[in-house]
Amino acid sequence: MSTEHHVQGIPISRLAEEFGTPMYVYDADVLCGRYGGLREALHPSLEFFYSLKANPNISVYSVLRRAGARAEVSSLTELRTAQRAGAAAEDIIFLGPGKSREELEACVEDAVYAVVCESIQEMRELDEIAERLDRDVDVLLRVNPSFTVKGSGLTMGGKPRQFGIDEERLLSEAGLLKGFPRLRCIGVHVYMGTRILSSETIVRNTERILDLAERLSVAMDFPLKTVDVGGGLGVGYFQGEDEIDLVALADGLNPLIEGFLSRRPDTRMIMESGRYLAAPAGMYVVGVRYVKTSMGERFAVADGGTNHHMAAVGIGSFVKRNFPMRLLDADTGRGGPEEWNVTGPLCTPNDTLGKRVSLPPLRQGDLIGVERSGAYGPTASPVHFLSHGHPAEVLVLDGRPHLVRERDRVEDMLGRQFLAPGLERGGAREDHR
Ligand SMILES: *Cc1c(COP(=O)(O)O)cnc(C)c1O
Repeated sequence: MSTEHHVQGIPISRLAEEFGTPMYVYDADVLCGRYGGLREALHPSLEFFYSLKANPNISVYSVLRRAGARAEVSSLTELRTAQRAGAAAEDIIFLGPGKSREELEACVEDAVYAVVCESIQEMRELDEIAERLDRDVDVLLRVNPSFTVKGSGLTMGGKPRQFGIDEERLLSEAGLLKGFPRLRCIGVHVYMGTRILSSETIVRNTERILDLAERLSVAMDFPLKTVDVGGGLGVGYFQGEDEIDLVALADGLNPLIEGFLSRRPDTRMIMESGRYLAAPAGMYVVGVRYVKTSMGERFAVADGGTNHHMAAVGIGSFVKRNFPMRLLDADTGRGGPEEWNVTGPLCTPNDTLGKRVSLPPLRQGDLIGVERSGAYGPTASPVHFLSHGHPAEVLVLDGRPHLVRERDRVEDMLGRQFLAPGLERGGAREDHR
């Protein structure tokens, strides 16, 4: 038996009434709590750069920035978001394997802390831009390490990848940096993967990254002013997944960092995090439009689905696993739980938010929440599929709800399309009957 779900004391039904469904609801207290948890547990010299990719909403980042998070961005819009939210240039790094000329120019002109270079051609392009603008640019080399460490959902090292420059290549071309007079290499960046739930894996990754950074700085002769050890801290979504153990992580990581800093006290130590900070702070709220049964199974057809929450569908995993879901209304007087398929409005069988989820008996108008959904939500989903557009996003801050992104309306979708000349209504073309 459960009562109606609240966010900072506000009933979800009130938010749904005010802002409509489908919507994402973010809790600023949870965002701050996640950041504070890392800040408190891990070495004070470690700086956390929020990966805007995980949730690029400007208010979401703004909450994290005020808590202390720096910014890791990967597109011009993400850069502008971070700047508009108040991030200082020295607290922004720009990475990504396919940066455009316009993006590189913005990095140079706005003097971000570092451009994380991912290929030798990119270094050449950046060097030319810097020369033209008559500036020097600080860069980190993103390294594709020769090693790999097991335990991550998506491994990035030890394999052919479009990310970074191979460790071997860098070690064999020790004079590489001399070819780029406008680039000042200030350190190394390595990102080993995402969704890591084992603290031991992160500790071992970090150990090897620190060692690699020192070896490279000696071999290539650059000052190791910065090491970005990546991150990829995960959150548990599915049954049987444990949360990352912050105490164990601190026990393993802090002495490593302490040891490194005792040799190199002036090194800036960076950890990146997106999912860990944002995921638990968000809930995807959908309204049940219709309930029906088909061949003995129950279906609740909701007003949003895969189009806003691709991750919940579990594309890429062999067995569909359900995100934590719940009925947000009170379930008094409904009877015991049943198995429900919660689907969305799209015309594809893949549009299934939850398969055979145990939920109280559902009815039209119910609100259902998909929890842990604050990261890789709408911006990582096919929001344009069936032209439904972006959902509303609401942030609850200091006990008050604020609309932080409007839902797309028909004109937002259609207004960017054009009828080609000759196709106007009433045009010359006859319809043949
Ligand atoms: C995606 C990405 C991140 C963020 O990953 P999370 O698992 O969400 O923390 C950090 N760094 C790089 C290089 C990335 O590509």
